[in-house]
Amino acid sequence: MISFKNVNLIYDNDVQALNNINFRINKGEFVFLVGTSGSGKSSLIKTILKEIDCTSGDINVNSQSIKELKNKDIPYFRRRLGVIFQDFRLLNEKTVYENVATAMRVVEADENNIKKRVPIVLEKVGLKNKLNCYPRELSGGEQQRVAIARAIVNDPLLILADEPTGNLDPETTLEILKILNEVNKSGTTILMATHDKEVVNNMRKRVISMKNGKIIHDNIEGGYKL
Ligand code: ADP
Ligand code: MG
Repeated sequence: MISFKNVNLIYDNDVQALNNINFRINKGEFVFLVGTSGSGKSSLIKTILKEIDCTSGDINVNSQSIKELKNKDIPYFRRRLGVIFQDFRLLNEKTVYENVATAMRVVEADENNIKKRVPIVLEKVGLKNKLNCYPRELSGGEQQRVAIARAIVNDPLLILADEPTGNLDPETTLEILKILNEVNKSGTTILMATHDKEVVNNMRKRVISMKNGKIIHDNIEGGYKL
């Protein structure tokens, strides 16, 4: 699903955010990416999305070499990826329904499909009764559930989550993790950056630990180690 081979990323200011990164994530895995602030987690996620080009090395996503992607193909490539951020990034002037429907319109789904699919996905994340609410009327946890619905509505191969529980309390964090776990059980691969030790230690998933741009541990059955 994802492979990194000798990947380096050096920013214009000479900061080396990724230093000889090598790993492979198979289809269906749930992987935590941990490390203190500045260790390179967001940079790694951005290179998978091709928001940033790595300086050297090879990244493959779903058997496609990212380097070889042409500019015109990048939007299509990103359609197969669901992304979730710490700050939710919802459209504040649109309802919950419209936030999720918009993601389907972007991929040119037809309106009948949208009408059927959006309520199903919102039910999956427990927001069936909030269809017509605006983001400002929701709690942080509910807003993040809308973001998850939006990320999964087009059935992505892979979900990339960058500190999705960073703004949430422990109880809400658990709810979000439960939903992501369900999404993963239905076959979607998940890579989630976090520095929440508690979450990582409870979930017993594979953990890739970063420090100063390097992978320092890669443990199959979890445990937050730095
Ligand atoms: P994390 O997500 O683990 O906190 P980042 O990937 O955001 O880490 O940052 C890794 C390193 O790269 C940090 O030293 C950070 O200051 C630097 N960095 C991040 N983004 C940029 C950028 N756009 N330009 C220059 N340096 C950056
Ligand atoms: Mg980050």
